[in-house]
Amino acid sequence: MFTMMESARLEALHLAQDPVTGLKAIIAIHNTRLGPALGGCRYLAYPDTDSAVRDAIRLAQGMSYKAALAGLEQGGGKAVIIRPAHVDNRGALFEAFGRMIETLKGGYITAVDSGTSSADMDCIAQFTQHVTSTTTAGDPSPHTAMGVFAGIRATALARLGSDDLQGLRVAIQGLGNVGYALAEQLAASGVELYVSDLDPGRVQLAAEELGAHPVSSEDLLGTPCDILAPCGLGGVLNSHTVGELHCAAVAGAANNQLASNEIADELESRGILYAPDYVINSGGLIYVALKHREQSLAAITAHLSKIGLRLTEIYGHAQADKRSPARVADALAERLLYGS
Ligand code: NAD
Repeated sequence: MFTMMESARLEALHLAQDPVTGLKAIIAIHNTRLGPALGGCRYLAYPDTDSAVRDAIRLAQGMSYKAALAGLEQGGGKAVIIRPAHVDNRGALFEAFGRMIETLKGGYITAVDSGTSSADMDCIAQFTQHVTSTTTAGDPSPHTAMGVFAGIRATALARLGSDDLQGLRVAIQGLGNVGYALAEQLAASGVELYVSDLDPGRVQLAAEELGAHPVSSEDLLGTPCDILAPCGLGGVLNSHTVGELHCAAVAGAANNQLASNEIADELESRGILYAPDYVINSGGLIYVALKHREQSLAAITAHLSKIGLRLTEIYGHAQADKRSPARVADALAERLLYGS
């Protein structure tokens, strides 16, 4: 366990179980140099405890990098609740998790993630104030989309010489909470949209409401376009798919878009500019972090608009050092987290 923690440079790992509710929870606190750890809570089934711990550690590390480059006074953390085969009272399980968070006295702040909902956060909130994305706090997705939109403009400026999106071709994979809101903003800026989703209803809606061109899920990545915006699942850019791309840049909301950092180098060598996912999609984190600190919507919007500037800075370093923006972003984050 300590070897795993050491290699991820993890500060602390907390485990708790409660036989009454069935709670088996892991809270990984990666780095608190910039502030208390903030990160979502997953509620998923895992093959064994080790894989759940590994997942929590990996995700907590990612949150530290994201918060650091988002300019937040916030550290990185993540919680995993191992979903039992059967649960009698889901509310009671999340209440027990709320009691666990309270014992950490604000060292970890939780939020919605895969498998959890705002209603679950409301249960947690009965026992601790260190929780965001409750039903009253609101959905971060529109803010994530706003940040991705700012990031697409910065990417267009860096790669195509102008941040005027009129007439640009953008292919969006995934029209969910973030992807659809992004499509609306892009359409309003005169972008020609190419869209796919596993749900044909979402694609039809985008065609009718936004004049988007429907593309099958199989063909989307290879669609000739200026910017590809992955907004579905992670891992879409791998050694099989990277050769298919016909775009000048990749800039989208999905987490963990690259199967590995070598894929970033491959994109770089093909002249495809890559917007590091955890930088361009940080709008949701900015929203929940600042909302938790009771900041105004105007202050949150102002902070979100800095995503474009941060990407411009990263692209500048990447061009000067002839390195991929993904590697530059990691190096910048590590300097903030470790001072090296
Ligand atoms: P969502 O579940 O609402 O939407 C995802 C959509 O992608 C769904 O409509 C799904 O059908 C579609 N999809 C999945 N695989 C696809 C494929 N192969 N081809 C076409 N469509 C596909 O999720 P979301 O909240 O919109 O988040 C989208 C991505 O952005 C996720 O990777 C998420 O982790 C990331 N993200 C979201 C937020 C947020 O605030 N919601 C913040 C940061 C990052």
